[in-house]
Amino acid sequence: MVGMTAKLADAGLSGKRPFSSPMDSALAEARAAAARGEVPVGAVVVDSKGRVLAKAGNRTLELRDPTAHAEILALREAAAMRGSERLLDCDLYVTLEPCAMCAGAISFARIRRLYFGAADPKGGAVEHGPRFFGQSTCHHAPEVYGGIGETASSDLLKAFFAARR
Ligand SMILES: [Zn+2]
Repeated sequence: MVGMTAKLADAGLSGKRPFSSPMDSALAEARAAAARGEVPVGAVVVDSKGRVLAKAGNRTLELRDPTAHAEILALREAAAMRGSERLLDCDLYVTLEPCAMCAGAISFARIRRLYFGAADPKGGAVEHGPRFFGQSTCHHAPEVYGGIGETASSDLLKAFFAARR
């Protein structure tokens, strides 16, 4: 991921973690999801001024909805708040690399930047699997910054799945 590292440096994201706050909120959502028995993934949508428009954790079990991933719920709430299906100047923070469904939704929502925590080699669709944003059928790709708050995100997931064994 040489390209990604270069991008991070360009954006000034290395060093003092200036963007830690929205990812901390996403982590809090992930912890709350774990407490509900859901896979601990959290997502936050912020506008161009850094204001939080929406935050959510996974609710697939609670809602009996296979599409109720944190990213989808946060995008829906942010779009409702904005009164628009397009979130042009908004950024999404999520604790885990998005799956194909969520990558599709992020693209359709025209999200400006995607920040994610832990990579997901088994179910991710950004750096793994279909690499959704790199496909010719993907008409809007956000800027992608991976590995933000990665350790906390992956520790949470590991603890959750270890406890279920
Ligand atoms: Zn997803």
